[in-house]
Amino acid sequence: MMKCVYIGENEYDTFATIVTEKYNPSKAVLTTIKTRVESCYNQYLFRFDELEAKQFSEFSAAEVEEKKHLQGCYSSLTKTGIPIKSSILSSQPDVLKTLCPYCLLEAPKTLDHYIGKDEFPEYSFLVKNLIPCCYSCNNIKDIKWRDSYRRRFIHFYNDNFFEEQFLFASLRIIESTPIINLSLVKPQNLDDDSFQIVSWHFEDLKLLDQYEQKCNTLLSTEIKIMKDGNFNDGLTLQQIEVQLQRREKNFADDYGINYWKSIMFQCMSQNVKDLLTC
Ligand SMILES: [Zn+2]
Repeated sequence: MMKCVYIGENEYDTFATIVTEKYNPSKAVLTTIKTRVESCYNQYLFRFDELEAKQFSEFSAAEVEEKKHLQGCYSSLTKTGIPIKSSILSSQPDVLKTLCPYCLLEAPKTLDHYIGKDEFPEYSFLVKNLIPCCYSCNNIKDIKWRDSYRRRFIHFYNDNFFEEQFLFASLRIIESTPIINLSLVKPQNLDDDSFQIVSWHFEDLKLLDQYEQKCNTLLSTEIKIMKDGNFNDGLTLQQIEVQLQRREKNFADDYGINYWKSIMFQCMSQNVKDLLTC
């Protein structure tokens, strides 16, 4: 897992420009609420932690028109909005152009409103709230960014715990069949609240199950390659370990240290002897 590149600049100025590009009545409605939107933007951009416990949007249920036109900043894009929306996807590092940051399994074809635009319409076109996402993750996450006022999903612009390893693998051999099991373990340097978000993120998106399936499908091929290196090329256990550690590091460098393939090779490198004899 890894952070997304945030391309937002002068987010309020962008909103103000979008308002000037709108037609009435949208333009008139948005103009009257501009300063309220600015203070909402400042809260998201500079005091994001406050939002978790914020009960309601600044715009009350009675402000139907205001909500509709705020949401329209995203659903009816203006000439300023169109290139920004496509740049969010195209500006990501190569890995995140092809894989969704939430799962690292499928293509990120959509943008997720981290905080849903029905609940907080003021963030409908805030770039910091628009995270590349695949269809599956977007469907599962939907509007559920928090539960009982606690965040349930990783925020791929704001969260900063991607250098800590929290995904681990262990190997079991059952009747000569090796099986990898994955689990989450709280790293020492990660606070309880952040680890809880990671745990819920994995739980809601069923990532442990999905990654385990991928690992165990790939494992038999990788064991064949290992055995080939051992029996045909005469590689020692230590040399095979080094090879596997290199592959672990290469995947971690490109996809983050919690990438399932990196974790799989880490586990294999720690169990070379058992894997060669099964
Ligand atoms: Zn996904």
